[in-house]
Parts: sequence; C-alpha cells; structure tokens
Amino acid sequence: MRVTDRVVVITGGSRGIGRAAALAAAARGYRIVVGYASNEAAAKEVVASIEAKNGKAIAVQCDVGKESDILRLFEAADKFGTLGALVNNAGIVGKSGVRVDEMSAERIQEMMAVNVTGSILCAREAVKRMSTKHGGKGGVIVNISSVAAKLGAPNTYVDYAASKGAIDSFTLGLGLEVAGEGIRVAGIRPGLIDTEIHAAGGEPDRAHRLAHMVPMKRVGHAEEIANAIVWLMSDDASYVTSTTLDVSGGR
Ligand code: NAP
Repeated sequence: MRVTDRVVVITGGSRGIGRAAALAAAARGYRIVVGYASNEAAAKEVVASIEAKNGKAIAVQCDVGKESDILRLFEAADKFGTLGALVNNAGIVGKSGVRVDEMSAERIQEMMAVNVTGSILCAREAVKRMSTKHGGKGGVIVNISSVAAKLGAPNTYVDYAASKGAIDSFTLGLGLEVAGEGIRVAGIRPGLIDTEIHAAGGEPDRAHRLAHMVPMKRVGHAEEIANAIVWLMSDDASYVTSTTLDVSGGR
C-alpha cells in the first residue's frame, strides 16, 4: 500500500490552513478525515470539493478540547482506512491585546486544552495506530505551531505564543520518542497567514495591517502552509523529523 492511499486526519480541516491542507493532500491521493469543531457547512464544503475531483473524504465533528471527541474522530478514521498521517492543525487564539495581568484562568485553560492537550491527545491516538511498536505501518505527524512561539506575542496574546512554544517542544520530544518506530514528527511555524483566525481574535485585518513587518512584505496564504504540510508528509521529507520549519516570509 502506498502511503498516499492512506488516511490523513486533519484537525480543524474545515477552514483556513486545515482546509488548504485537506485539498492539497487529497490532490496527492490521500483519503482525508476533515475534523471540525462546529462549522459543519464548511467541513461539508471541503468534502464536496475533494469528491468533485474524485478524491475521498469524510467530515467528522471533533472539538479537540474534548478527549471523547478525539476518540470518536480516530474511530471514524479507522473505519475509513489505515492511518498514514495526522495534521495537528486545530488551534485558537484568545482576544488580541489582552495582557497576561488581565487574563482569566478560563481563557488560559481553554487555550492550553485546545492548542496543547488536544494536539498531544491526537498524537497519542495516531502513535497507537502508526507505530511499528504497536504493529502499525509507520506514518507522519505534522504539528502546526506559529512564529509566535519565537516572538512571544507581547501585548497581543502571550498565552497563545506559550501554547505554540509547548507544541515546538512536543514536536522535538515526540519525534525522538518514535523515531525508531517508523513515525516522523515535524512542525511548521506559519507567519502571518490570511485566514479567519484573526477575526476570531477580534482583529479581522490583523494580517494585512502587519504585513509591512514581514521581510517579504506580504501576508502568507493558507496554500503556502499546505504545500509545506504535504511536503513534510511525503517521502521527499523521509529524513526529516523532530524539527520545526518556519514558513513565514522571513519573520
Ligand atoms: P482558522 O481559519 O480560524 O480555522 C480554524 C480551524 O480550526 C477551523 O477548521 C475550526 O473549525 C477549527 N477549530 C477551532 N477550534 C477548534 C477546536 N476546539 N477543536 C477542533 N477544531 C477547532 O485558523 P487558521 O488560521 O487556519 O489556523 C490553523 C492553525 O494554524 C492553528 O493552529 C493556528 O494557531 C495556526 N497558525 C495560524 C496563523 C495565521 O496567521 N492564520 C499563524 C500561525 C499559526 P470550525 O470551522 O468548525 O470552527
């Protein structure tokens, strides 16, 4: 079985970077499990777009902040085929411009539950299925971090930056843990990408407002992150593990 015949679980595959990754991976022959939190219509649109090009995809509701949802997501993936890759893409930002001395415990806990615990639990389920130690065929885990992990996002959302710093450490550690078990683990740190996440943080035009600070003087597009995701998933990246790639126009 070629790796591209296998199933890819993409959390947050309904919109933005996850949607672009779903379309790019489907175009390469992967079977796609499109995870989504609540926007069923968007998830169904992604599935329909893939099927229109003779690809295979299903949409599965999964709030990665809930372990029971994650278990259900992977059970659905098992019914769809053999897992070959996980893209830990689902992520949230809190309201932009809130300092740490103003942050509620609830905000910080939700941030960590979705961005960190959710990613680790999804990876746990993927390793159980893909590790040769457990009788699996190997595979790839791609963790979506952010350049915020290196910049810290002061006066913007330090909690988000800290959650992505945790993802970078997780990519390093898990990659080393399973390097001898047929699983590669790699991360991507996107820069300012033109998606709806900025609206969720209360600043819809954030990416364009800050584009002049990017050395390449422009925002990035979801497809540019998707291209890096499918490269990391592919055999062209067969010696790449335990590392995180900046895809950020130089910033
Ligand atoms: P987006 O456009 O806001 O899309 C978010 C996606 O995640 C949607 O599919 C959404 O599902 C899903 N999602 C949200 N909360 C979830 C939860 N609790 N459980 C499961 N899925 C959830 O975001 P994006 O910009 O594409 O961001 C994707 C990833 O890239 C995130 O990890 C983000 O931190 C990272 N990133 C983005 C940028 C950027 O500038 N855009 C930069 C660096 C890193 P619904 O459609 O159901 O709501």
